[in-house]
Amino acid sequence: MKTINHWIDGSPTSGASTRVGPVFNPATGSQTAEVPLASTVDVDKAVRSAKSAFETWRYSSLTQRQNIMFAFRELVAARKLDIAKLLTAEHGKTIDDALGEVQRGLEVIEFACNIARLLKGDFSEQVSTGVDTYTIRQPLGVVAGITPFNFPAMVPMWMYPLAIACGNTFVLKPSEKDPSPSMLCAELFAEAGLPEGVFNVVHGDKEAVDAILAHPDIAAVSFVGSTPIARYIYENGTRNGKRVQALGGAKNHMIVLPDADIDLAADSAVSAGYGSAGERCMAIAAVVAVGDAGDRLIEGVQTRIEKLKVGPGDEPGVEMGPLVTRAHLDRVLGYVDAGVSQGALLVADGRDLVVDGHEDGFFLGPTLFDQVTPDMSIYTDEIFGPVLSTVRMEHFEDAIRLINENPYGNGTAVFTNDGGAARKFQQEIQVGMVGINVPIPVPLSFYSFGGWKDSIFGSHAIYGPEGVHFYTRQKVVISRWADPIHRGVDLGFPTHG
Ligand code: NAD
Repeated sequence: MKTINHWIDGSPTSGASTRVGPVFNPATGSQTAEVPLASTVDVDKAVRSAKSAFETWRYSSLTQRQNIMFAFRELVAARKLDIAKLLTAEHGKTIDDALGEVQRGLEVIEFACNIARLLKGDFSEQVSTGVDTYTIRQPLGVVAGITPFNFPAMVPMWMYPLAIACGNTFVLKPSEKDPSPSMLCAELFAEAGLPEGVFNVVHGDKEAVDAILAHPDIAAVSFVGSTPIARYIYENGTRNGKRVQALGGAKNHMIVLPDADIDLAADSAVSAGYGSAGERCMAIAAVVAVGDAGDRLIEGVQTRIEKLKVGPGDEPGVEMGPLVTRAHLDRVLGYVDAGVSQGALLVADGRDLVVDGHEDGFFLGPTLFDQVTPDMSIYTDEIFGPVLSTVRMEHFEDAIRLINENPYGNGTAVFTNDGGAARKFQQEIQVGMVGINVPIPVPLSFYSFGGWKDSIFGSHAIYGPEGVHFYTRQKVVISRWADPIHRGVDLGFPTHG
């Protein structure tokens, strides 16, 4: 069985803690690796390395940082398939989906390659006689990232390329469920010429997270994961004086209006509902069918999911893989049972699925509910599995109200051919990322990613321009050189003239 290490100070290390966690191949159900679960001592070792590296990295030239980022970009692009295979082996998603994940991470690395331009400040000449004013953006110090299981390569890449390009050093605590992609990325970063200690990876669970939140030498924490943990990270991190951005869970709705292209809507509901087995924070979990769109849509979705091929993610032609762990599968199964007992209509039952030769894998077939009402737990809770709920609504306004009353606000979509309806939706909807005839509206790297309401805690969205702001502090300089007028002592408040 494989033993996974931490990555501290530029090399793999087993760490001081004797606690370990299991890593599974979700398609077979068997344990494939053991991951160390860091203690406070291990976290402290990584932070000390990052703190010492910061003293020189913060003064590295922008050209040097860009050169390293370009080299890292080339290595990640060249090893895309190797990273994707690790994702499939530990997360379960299909190779195609995993390649897409790496591609979206690469785009953030590419954005960070442009750091010289991104860090440009403002300059105002002659704000007063002989006085100029300008702004500088400076790094924060040691920054930590805590990431979820569902995008083990991409979500860390939402954080560390930009943080490091801004001049910070980084300690990543990836999900203990699929830790290997982060180790490969650490190796590639070292190969790209990144100095030791600038990027560290510490594996672990709550103990490691609490050590990060308490560590006095960590200036900022980026978190992506479920809402209860995001809230915990935000409250405890900020209480300890850290800058925190904490992205939480989701319950994404897709409204289908009667005038929509129903084929497009059905394709989109299936792609966004069952892609990555529903384990995406931007997955569509609830379809809200307005007026007479419902019957046509249910029929379209049902015929499409009957054809979906479910199996191990590394098998050619497979479109949907297993769930990440047995515990998660059991949790999702519990919701399907609850949906039935609470009175929803089970249109497609994924519990019947058998994947030949993989009977111990964590599989659940695509599951579709109709006649779901907002009081049912399949509607109220984030299930994070291949379970799509259909809610029927008579009017568009009621559908908008339903979404706005939901505590989550990550992503949402409307399907319609009516521009006025789309504009009303875009204007009134209380959600951070909005798709118009687009089911998974994930912004590209040059925009920032972030939901509203309980899907985010803190004032900064992640990556893009907001990422640059999160990982830097602005300094304003008021400078006077060679001013021929010396005004002498003046205790009054400075005014300009
Ligand atoms: P999670 O919240 O269980 O875990 C996230 C991280 O927190 C992991 O590194 C984990 O080790 C750590 N953690 C778990 N329990 C902890 C505890 N009690 N105390 C301290 N740390 C703890 O999330 P997950 O199951 O790994 O990922 C799925 C969740 O992430 C879903 O809710 C999904 O919506 C969300 N997510 C959100 C986004 C977004 O951009 N908003 C993106 C991806 C995933």
